[in-house]
Amino acid sequence: TFKAVVVTRDEETRKQSVALKEIGIDDLMEGDVTVKVSHSTLNYKDGLAVTGAGPVVRRFPMIPGIDFAGTVVSSESEEFSEGDEVLLNGWGVGETHMGGFAGMARVKADWLIGLPEGLTRFEAMAIGTAGYTAMLCVLALERHGVTPDRGPVVVTGAAGGVGSVAISLLGKLGYHVIASTGRPAEGDYLKDLGATEIIDRAELSEKARPLGKERWAGGVDTVGTHTLANVLSMTQYGGAVAACGLAGGMDLPTSVAPFILRGVSLLGIDSVMAPKPLRIEAYDRLARDLDKDKLKALTTTISLEDVIDKAGAILEGKVRGRTVVEI
Ligand code: NAP
Repeated sequence: TFKAVVVTRDEETRKQSVALKEIGIDDLMEGDVTVKVSHSTLNYKDGLAVTGAGPVVRRFPMIPGIDFAGTVVSSESEEFSEGDEVLLNGWGVGETHMGGFAGMARVKADWLIGLPEGLTRFEAMAIGTAGYTAMLCVLALERHGVTPDRGPVVVTGAAGGVGSVAISLLGKLGYHVIASTGRPAEGDYLKDLGATEIIDRAELSEKARPLGKERWAGGVDTVGTHTLANVLSMTQYGGAVAACGLAGGMDLPTSVAPFILRGVSLLGIDSVMAPKPLRIEAYDRLARDLDKDKLKALTTTISLEDVIDKAGAILEGKVRGRTVVEI
């Protein structure tokens, strides 16, 4: 047996509850690879899943945890063999398939990637879905031609997981990074990661005008709603914004003005179903472009026992950077 965080639902009241339980391998779902999990992570989405604050879990009982890293203990797939170090992000794991907050996981080989050279399992989980999504945003900006010479880039939700990794990556790549945060006390932390300027997120949270002063060549937005609308309205001619999150809300109260008058592009980013070649490219770049000391500085480690408490804190915006769960 092994420990797992298990979410159940009372079918009458439709209320979710969560507890740390001792379960067995037969409680897991189908899959051709069994992994001894050594590390998982806590993302915003895991906060929603554990607390039930958002409809993330779509099968009960469920083990949340959208990421894990570990070692293969048995495999029916030719792609992996016993002893291989692997990692997983997304694919509905922790939502519809038993996830990473457990000592063991059984999943489809297609969902796993081999641990990239140059990263430890701990580092892979310090990156986690949040960090790998930050890299997908950077790749999207690069593909759109938003290079450091084009002008500053803004990162919203700066002190969160996606934001912290995005700032570290963009800073190392030579961008002038404007970090938007509601936690001014984290200014030094954000500057150490690679931010050049800090702005108060209140500047971007009021209803946006169709067009504002052109302040940046592009951005990474994790907040959505008025914040994304303001980021778009202040993007320079021909720039682009990678949108990946909804920490502020799911709506987007904008106009077509930035798109049709300034040729601004909105780049949609999804990590969950991203194809494997893109994942491998993102991890290769992370292994190369992410400063390991900065990654360490933005990471806190907790145990499986702490997950339930910390899940509420991440939804309240009280968790800084990334959180690794040591199993
Ligand atoms: P996180 O660590 O909780 O970071 C979110 C940050 O957003 C907070 O730290 C806070 O930053 C800011 N924030 C929170 N509430 C806000 C509000 N009401 N108004 C404005 N800003 C607010 O979460 P995460 O794991 O980095 O994820 C960030 C977002 O990206 C989430 O919405 C998540 O679901 C999404 N996401 C999407 C994908 C994808 O595939 N598209 C993948 C990963 C994550 P400050 O304290 O600095 O203001």
